[in-house]
Amino acid sequence: MDTANEIIEKIRREIAALQPSTAHENFGHVLSFGDGVAFASGLSQVKLNEKVQFADGSLGLALNLAEDCVGIVVLSDEAKINAGDEVKTTGELLSVPAGKELLGRVVNGLGEPIDGRGPIGTTEHYPVEKIAPGILPRQSVSQPLQTGIIAIDSMIPIGRGQRELIIGDRATGKTSIAIDAILNQAEINRQGEASGDPEFRPVYSIYVAIGQRRSAVAKTIQLLESHSALQYTIILAEGASNNPVGQYIAPYAGTAMGEWFMDNGMDALIVYDDLSKHAVAYRQISLVLKRPAGRQAYPGDIFYLHSRLLERSARLNRDNGGGSLTALPIVETQEGDVSAYIPTNIISITDGQIYLDTDLFNRGVRPAIATGISVSRVGSAAQVKAFKQVAGKVKLDLGQYYELMAFAQFGSELDERTQQQLDRGARIVELFKQPRLAPKPMEVQVFLLWAVQNGFFDKIPVNKTKKAADDLEQWVRSAQIQLLEDIAAKKEIDGAVGKRLHGALESWQTTQGGDAQSNA
Ligand code: ATP
Ligand code: MG
Repeated sequence: MDTANEIIEKIRREIAALQPSTAHENFGHVLSFGDGVAFASGLSQVKLNEKVQFADGSLGLALNLAEDCVGIVVLSDEAKINAGDEVKTTGELLSVPAGKELLGRVVNGLGEPIDGRGPIGTTEHYPVEKIAPGILPRQSVSQPLQTGIIAIDSMIPIGRGQRELIIGDRATGKTSIAIDAILNQAEINRQGEASGDPEFRPVYSIYVAIGQRRSAVAKTIQLLESHSALQYTIILAEGASNNPVGQYIAPYAGTAMGEWFMDNGMDALIVYDDLSKHAVAYRQISLVLKRPAGRQAYPGDIFYLHSRLLERSARLNRDNGGGSLTALPIVETQEGDVSAYIPTNIISITDGQIYLDTDLFNRGVRPAIATGISVSRVGSAAQVKAFKQVAGKVKLDLGQYYELMAFAQFGSELDERTQQQLDRGARIVELFKQPRLAPKPMEVQVFLLWAVQNGFFDKIPVNKTKKAADDLEQWVRSAQIQLLEDIAAKKEIDGAVGKRLHGALESWQTTQGGDAQSNA
């Protein structure tokens, strides 16, 4: 039971809330609260994305600045907010902890640890929303970011500072590609650090899980840990069960952590898994904020929101420390429809797409990359020369293969040359099949592609290509270590390396010889 004084106090507060004329500059009163969103009067000086504090101490973020009231998303699930409560501005934009101390940790959208491993010992903070670097401090991509996936590194190469979209239907292997890319960075980091090369630049990863099931995130963490990649990675998770505000903030918070590396002259990779769920979280918040809905009920500014996010990935020039932030946003499509609102938006603001195809996936072509429609618009500038030497022809062969396939379907008689071309394409498709969690180093990829291009697989039946390539890989990794090291160091196939490649492959053929010939 309320005492008389409490009742009087309550009435006072309600009256105060009803009187916009008493609006203070930095104070206001809660008009209503529900679904994680509060509306407040007053706060006439509040800035967009400014942190505000409620009477119970919980924090909110001013998102909607209307003429007569401010829409605030509340950052805590346990906030106890009532109509009439006082709310005040803090003069601070939302920020999250940043720094290397976050590596190996799992945090939420506010950068708070959720892995039970104690506090994160960093004093630095970075604003969650930041204006992207302009044109001047930027530089075009010039260093590769190798995923270890042969179909990507050879055909759709990614450069540091690039934004490459991974897009496809449910369960087509989107997350797996991103995780492989993170594992490969860890592997390269480990080798680079061991080499003692002062020029070596590690790539740190940030994996932002948005709206995923807890069990899925736990699996990812476990995978990274068991592959010794967690120590180079920050995991930021806002799960499906959390309030949509956390999911909305998550990609920005992760980007802030990535910017810390970039601004300090280092390289980082950020994965947003995925932005479709981010858009849904924002739609949910916007409905409560009573914003007008646009196409497919998404608020119109979702496009602006995503472009502002992805603009923050960049390669800075030398004067600005030379750091970079590479982004791999993930988008889920429904039945391959890339013309839906969110996919088209994000396609238009990225530097290329890796398109995953359900049919390919079901036919066992995994990773299910549709090479014909996947592109990387800037990455080839950063691709190492050795790849360029082998990849150009691979692209051509694959292109011809898909074209010829269309004709071959009609069952017409094929001349020998056409059949050969088809077989070569089919062999490349086989070679591109790769299990997850098994990224290949650049020199091994180059070796295999060179072997295919130079006819060393021509006598092997198409359906045995994959097995032969696996055997060859195993053999070269144990019997030709020096040759692989030289390709890795030179990064190109000059006359001498070419001769040694020939020699190595001929000796492999003779060890195998019998089988390969008899299968022909
Ligand atoms: P979701 O839409 O649920 O997020 P997704 O597109 O992220 O799915 P993944 O979770 O990466 O897809 O993979 C889906 C399934 O395909 C998993 O069972 C995974 O093990 C399998 N898979 C992914 N890549 C490969 C691969 N290269 N080889 C074999 N299996 C794979
Ligand atoms: Mg996934």
